[in-house]
Amino acid sequence: MAGIGILGDIHGNLPALEAVLEHAGTLDGWLCVGDIVGYGPFPNECIDRVRGLDARCVTGNHDLGSTGLLDLSFFNVFARIACEWTNAALEPEAREWLSSLPAIDRAPDRPLIVHGSVRDPVWEYVMRTSVAAYNFELFNEALCFNGHTHVPMIFAFSGGHASEVEVFDGLSLDLLDGTRYMANVGSVGQPRDLDARACYCVLYPERKVLEYHRVEYPFERTQSRMSQEGLPEPLITRLAYGR
Ligand code: ZN
Repeated sequence: MAGIGILGDIHGNLPALEAVLEHAGTLDGWLCVGDIVGYGPFPNECIDRVRGLDARCVTGNHDLGSTGLLDLSFFNVFARIACEWTNAALEPEAREWLSSLPAIDRAPDRPLIVHGSVRDPVWEYVMRTSVAAYNFELFNEALCFNGHTHVPMIFAFSGGHASEVEVFDGLSLDLLDGTRYMANVGSVGQPRDLDARACYCVLYPERKVLEYHRVEYPFERTQSRMSQEGLPEPLITRLAYGR
């Protein structure tokens, strides 16, 4: 039985996305926690690939910023420049699809999907147990997937108490009955946990297992295209270091 892939924070990094999809092989479906574009030089190509997966997908702050749906004064200067570049580069059909994504994806018996958090799907960073604990009070689903921090992380909630679960490449976590989880799936296209490799997850609903994977990709290809396009230097160099 194949699983369900979960990915996010692709950020227009096509070589990273292609490496993840090749590594994952054929799965039963895909979920995407947003930020398909912004920062990277291949926004249209990444949108095409995600649409081709028929993924259930939510929007992220960079998707909104790159389509004129969010005020760019909320972004730092490099993110803002990249959003402006992306906005100019987006093809009409890709822009229309990106603009149509919801902030929260929720349906009975399915994992909840948000970009940042349940409390604030667009902007909140869930990095601490206390922030996770507050968010667990706001939903009932057994599993919530999010992104936005670019750092893979899991919080578990049982008996009214939240705790952090250590995440590493190759983690295969047994999801316990009676425990709820918020799982940050890390970033495909711009990891920030000092590991330059692309990150994604696979959920096996019947076995109740969640796996984390890291995948090497030719980040030099992304970097050279970013240079050609005149994107900010700090956004280019960080890809080699995962920060
Ligand atoms: Zn992001």
